[in-house]
Amino acid sequence: VQYQITSSRLHHRLYSLTDSSETGPEDEEAETRVPLTPLQKLTNDMCKDEKTIKELIIGRRVGFYKVRGEIGYGTFSRVKMAFHALTKDKVALKMLDKARLDIQAQRLLSREISSMESLQHPNVVRLYEVVETPSRLYLVLEYAGGGDLHNRICNEGKFSDNSSKIIFAQILSAIKYMHNINIIHRDLKAENVLFASNGCVKVADFGFSTQVSNRNDALDTFCGSPPYAAPELFRDESYLGPPVDVWAMGVLLFFMVTGTMPFRAETMGKLRRCIIEGTYSVPPWMPGPCQKLIKGILKTAPAERYAVEQMMGCDWLLPVEFPWTLVPAESLSPLQSLLESESKDLEEMVEEVRGSLEELGFTTEHLRNNQPKDSRNPFTGVFRILLHQAQKRRGCDCPPVVRGMVRDPKREGLRAYRGLRHTSKFCVLS
Ligand code: ATP
Repeated sequence: VQYQITSSRLHHRLYSLTDSSETGPEDEEAETRVPLTPLQKLTNDMCKDEKTIKELIIGRRVGFYKVRGEIGYGTFSRVKMAFHALTKDKVALKMLDKARLDIQAQRLLSREISSMESLQHPNVVRLYEVVETPSRLYLVLEYAGGGDLHNRICNEGKFSDNSSKIIFAQILSAIKYMHNINIIHRDLKAENVLFASNGCVKVADFGFSTQVSNRNDALDTFCGSPPYAAPELFRDESYLGPPVDVWAMGVLLFFMVTGTMPFRAETMGKLRRCIIEGTYSVPPWMPGPCQKLIKGILKTAPAERYAVEQMMGCDWLLPVEFPWTLVPAESLSPLQSLLESESKDLEEMVEEVRGSLEELGFTTEHLRNNQPKDSRNPFTGVFRILLHQAQKRRGCDCPPVVRGMVRDPKREGLRAYRGLRHTSKFCVLS
């Protein structure tokens, strides 16, 4: 479902939290007797409290979020830190001026939102909510405050072999998950890999992403950053999505392990030639298993390039133990899979979230009237934040560990992938 940017109309959607128990002027007497729930207090303040209303007008508050300092900016956006007024969670608020968004930017934004709505993985930045005001659109994102991979490498140099494994395994897990649900990122680069405060990495920036109906669908738009672009993007009229993300991961891996980019040139023409010819040199000190992986990825013919499954089964990553399932649910949306799952643990988690919602003042009627599927509903924001909290309490957002020996039979089973060839056919539409 494509996300439409609606016309400029004022709606702090708290008014749409339909619950007949919300206090109205006629209830003022009752208000004095019964203590207000946090939700009632917040919604009352947003409607009646002068200071809160002023903060909403000047942008110190956006919907249920209290806005703090700036943390970054992009071509069309500014990103600020913010807190949820009820759950107190820290979030990143990506602000976009509607007037600055041309048709192309609107299309990209709508893709970014719909891709992120389908994704729920420990290594993908979560979208909690979308808030729209007359002049702006705000994406409320999971906060990943540890900086990005590009800056980390530029400031501190290359990563050790073990750290590279831990980071790369997480990126790979995220990409495997995305590709399973037919989402192609198309702009993987060190700048788009963020660190959370616990060292977990998060793939961000889905502005160039696309959801294909079939992974063998040919795409024809050049996306991404030239040093990370696969040769077929320069060479052919169309390309397949997954191998393009795989190539970018190869460039990223090379950059992490060596601190330098595999393809460098003073001009775009020379860079293009370098990439099409696949000319790069691997430093001799690079550990053999890592060299083998990079060589398997940076193959100029997409059909010969490693598939994600082959990367997961490579020798270099065998000592990595993931604390979460390697291949999460594929076809269902995250929320669907959660609500439709019969797993005891998930049932318990949903109950926990329901309990927290009730403590904040969301009634059974709220829950019935506000399905947490619509990103523009503040209830969805609270629900997704609480759900993520519950998942984190269960260790879902922990970085993987590297062990000397691989004992997990499931990981051992991935060895079987090593013999697999990438079977997709490359198809050029002309
Ligand atoms: P461009 O739009 O030009 O491609 P960009 O994609 O980096 O740039 P944004 O996604 O708006 O633009 O991010 C801008 C900056 O904000 C990032 O470089 C990063 O430093 C910071 N940032 C973005 N998302 C988050 C997040 N979820 N948590 C913490 N910081 C973030």
